[in-house]
Amino acid sequence: MFADLHLHTNFSDGTYTPEELASHASRHGLSAVALTDHDTVEGCVRMAAACAQTGLEFIPATELTAEMDGNELHLLGYFVDTQNPSLLKEMARFQAVRQNRIREMVARLNGQNVPLQADAVFAIANCRSPGRPHVGRALVQGGFCASMDEAFERFLKKNRPAWVPKFKISAVDAIELIHQAGGLAVMAHPGLNRTDEIIPGLVEAGLDGLECFHTRHSSSQIGHYIRIAKEFDLVITGGSDCHGLSKGKPLIGTVRLPYQHVEKLKEAAAQRSFK
Ligand SMILES: [Zn+2]
Ligand SMILES: [Zn+2]
Repeated sequence: MFADLHLHTNFSDGTYTPEELASHASRHGLSAVALTDHDTVEGCVRMAAACAQTGLEFIPATELTAEMDGNELHLLGYFVDTQNPSLLKEMARFQAVRQNRIREMVARLNGQNVPLQADAVFAIANCRSPGRPHVGRALVQGGFCASMDEAFERFLKKNRPAWVPKFKISAVDAIELIHQAGGLAVMAHPGLNRTDEIIPGLVEAGLDGLECFHTRHSSSQIGHYIRIAKEFDLVITGGSDCHGLSKGKPLIGTVRLPYQHVEKLKEAAAQRSFK
């Protein structure tokens, strides 16, 4: 039995609906999935229903962008209560910041003689958590760029003309936010950050787990992070980080987390709820 605990839908920057994602998951023979849309848990109700229909175990979750010691990192919150008032309030704030960031990126594109309109991006995003991939799609659809790769290379990548720094809450606050919503905080794709030195500080702040298995982790990185997880007594998680068709090929099915790790995650979540 295998799981994929890192998936996005069109409630953030993925392209699949929850129903499409659930059907891909069952076609790939997965037993359990988690939905980890950026700064939202809105897709979880539909995803839970779709998973129930296809006999898949479902874990509600989200992915928050945070910062520690000047480093950006992503924190996954598993088993969060999707009705938790503080979580919903903070997410609404993050979503407003995202929408302002889109307007700022569009203003910078306009300054580059690219007459894109923010409304075109919001129409494509059609969700409360718009992000750079939506700007990229709008650039392609508007005929300003031939491909998403070109959109990122020319305009949207870090330090390119339309790039705007992203607001991040502190990792300590993000972990606290996840915990007070009854969830477990897991550091996403540490291999992409290459900032292992922040892990002890995160553990100190209450980090519960490490995403050891990820599409972009090499097999040596997987082994490396499993060792770190064991050293700090962290739960091991993993997932494909599938965004549907928005970032090239759909990745669902490419990372298969052995189900024993889901069992451990569930045990840790149950223990947390007794605290
Ligand atoms: Zn991420
Ligand atoms: Zn992700």
